[in-house]
Amino acid sequence: MSQDPLQTPVHMLRGCGESRAELLAALGLHTVEDVLFLLPRDVLDLSHVTPVSELNDESIQTVHGTVVDVDGRNLSRGRTLSSVLLESGEDFVRGTWFNQAWVLKRFQHGMQVLFSGKPKRRSGRWEFSHPQIQWLEAGDSEITGAVLPRYRLTEGLRMHELRKIIREAVERYAHHVVDRVPPQVLETAGLPVLEEAIRQLHLPATAEEYETGRKRIIFDDLFEFQLGLALRRREWKRGRSAVRLPVTAKIDSRIRLLFPFKFTEGQNQAVREISEDLASGRAMHRLLQADVGAGKTAIAMYAMLTAVAAGVQTVLMAPTEVLASQHWSTIDEALARSRVTRCLLTGQLTPARRKRVLEDIASGEIQLVVGTQAVIQEDVRFKQLGLAVIDEQHRFGVAQRARFSSTGITPHVLVMTATPIPRSLTLTQFGDLDLTVIRDLPPGRQPVSTSRIRSQKARDKAWDFVRRQLRAGRQAYIVCPRIEEAGTAGANSPDPRELLPFNQPTDQASGSSRPAPGSPETDEPASPGDAGSAERVFAELSAGELKDFRLGLVHGQLDRDRKARAMDAFRNGETQVLVSTTVIEVGVDVPNATLMVIMQADHFGLAQLHQLRGRIGRGRHRSYCLLFSDEGTPEGEQRLAALESTTDGFRIAEVDFELRGPGDVLGTRQHGELPLRVASLVRDREILEETRQIAFDLVRSGKFDASGFGPLREQVLLRFGELMELPHGG
Ligand code: ADP
Ligand code: MG
Repeated sequence: MSQDPLQTPVHMLRGCGESRAELLAALGLHTVEDVLFLLPRDVLDLSHVTPVSELNDESIQTVHGTVVDVDGRNLSRGRTLSSVLLESGEDFVRGTWFNQAWVLKRFQHGMQVLFSGKPKRRSGRWEFSHPQIQWLEAGDSEITGAVLPRYRLTEGLRMHELRKIIREAVERYAHHVVDRVPPQVLETAGLPVLEEAIRQLHLPATAEEYETGRKRIIFDDLFEFQLGLALRRREWKRGRSAVRLPVTAKIDSRIRLLFPFKFTEGQNQAVREISEDLASGRAMHRLLQADVGAGKTAIAMYAMLTAVAAGVQTVLMAPTEVLASQHWSTIDEALARSRVTRCLLTGQLTPARRKRVLEDIASGEIQLVVGTQAVIQEDVRFKQLGLAVIDEQHRFGVAQRARFSSTGITPHVLVMTATPIPRSLTLTQFGDLDLTVIRDLPPGRQPVSTSRIRSQKARDKAWDFVRRQLRAGRQAYIVCPRIEEAGTAGANSPDPRELLPFNQPTDQASGSSRPAPGSPETDEPASPGDAGSAERVFAELSAGELKDFRLGLVHGQLDRDRKARAMDAFRNGETQVLVSTTVIEVGVDVPNATLMVIMQADHFGLAQLHQLRGRIGRGRHRSYCLLFSDEGTPEGEQRLAALESTTDGFRIAEVDFELRGPGDVLGTRQHGELPLRVASLVRDREILEETRQIAFDLVRSGKFDASGFGPLREQVLLRFGELMELPHGG
């Protein structure tokens, strides 16, 4: 067995004894390979060093010099002042530190050093207070215009030491690196071979070289990942035969007759794509993306009835009770005069009823099931499940996808999302699913007009407007970030039953924007302040601004019956105003509601605000969203500004992603599961797109099966084989 030189332990490298090896281990660097593929955190471009004669006191600059004096002084009351003098060409600059006497130990006469910071002119000399320090090696400083990568460090390890170890690794081992990516791919992508890339990354001659080397390393990470996804998708298509669910013209027209409207072009296109999958004999694995209100329920129903028509069972799974019962009433109503046998299956059934339902599902007696997660519990066994529709996917973990138990056959799976997902996530988290996007909305929808309401005067006017709309027969949602008042138990924390990863309100971000006790808002009990408590807002509005109207209250701590009653009362117009927490955020559909007031709007996340706003603008009447907020954090302000400026959910998804990053968008747990080594979905978006294209083309065209890709295929299997359940040797 030949030893792979790249697996040489780091302590074998010159400049890296046992003790430094321990420090490297703390950084996750155990072998030479780890060191070679370490991505610098950034790069120091010495061609951007400022000559002392050109310094100014306005910006952060870097100077370069030789240590000529090191001086420590004791000031009064035990304070210390340390200073280091650098000689830089004809000039001198000083670095100073208060109460950090230990700093001086790191300097010696003759050392080459960089100071970065904003300098001040003091007694005729430029001075850097607590500058960022870089130590250069003798060799580094001789090269003018050198570009030095900087790495994440750990206590006890210095940058120049780490650089030296890395240089050693590159010089002695880079030529052992095997490039698994065939030349034709590199040519397409315009990238250097791996050995070259590693040299450019760690020992770049120019900033451009560094960028190229870096891109190659990130490219490989994403490319292998995308190849894994492409293989997984191919496998899904190849391996899983599923019942054919063909749609005849007769079935098609019968299904369409159930809807009081004509499908939009987008809906028709979605139906075509889904029908093709369902008729193909291979299991569908498709993600349906559309903006809020685009009419996904109709698509789900169409697909489900296709399954029923073909004689197999179908299930629709929703993330909450409220949503499941709403889907249920929509479907149940539409099927009122049909013979489709159906049931609602949630955690709320009595044991006796549940037992009966499960028996009927197992015997095939029931054809169509609507439910919550209760439908994927172990004791739920379908006789022949042909199609599963999962609504509002990102409230479920990806791992929960398609765990339906059915005898004999593989179900087709259609996943629907609540709001558009940023493209980066479509390409990763959902990257193995086929994608259908609906870009249009049902006709006659007017975009919701959105405004921020900040002053007391604006608020008075807003309530006036609300009253006029209510008198004209419209209905209104008043949404609050919390259930109870601040200061009582559970205050300031979001309604726990509604809190799911995707919709985490940005509580830390907003903390500072809450009105301080005694501020004008809280001093005026007669008018509803900007308080975020649903209970308090309900009480205040009922007695104040909206006392002439019928108000309802709904939140996650109400028991199921009261919640359902409150929703029903609002749906059938008994109540005109519904004060709520985010329980109403996903999917609730009351077309006559045209007004939404969001209290403390800056306390919500952007995707969540968009989702909330999607509850209105669903009918013929013009709709209005009023965002109440105090002066919030900059990020809160950006969110509200984005919401005000566009109603395009696809656009909002991208802004949200940029502001919050992937962890927050899909929940940290899932982000943590993304098996990427160095790539960042926010930073490396272009590379992601590029690798997606190349990887999927290669797999689709069959080129990836050619012998030149053998080593790369092995690597992909090694990294993702188990995770993505890829077949070996295929
Ligand atoms: P979402 O995509 O957010 O789940 P829904 O399925 O709840 O949207 O549909 C929103 C509203 O639009 C519902 O009231 C539905 O009846 C209506 N709708 C759906 N499709 C059409 C259409 N083609 N024409 C008119 N109204 C439609
Ligand atoms: Mg929906």
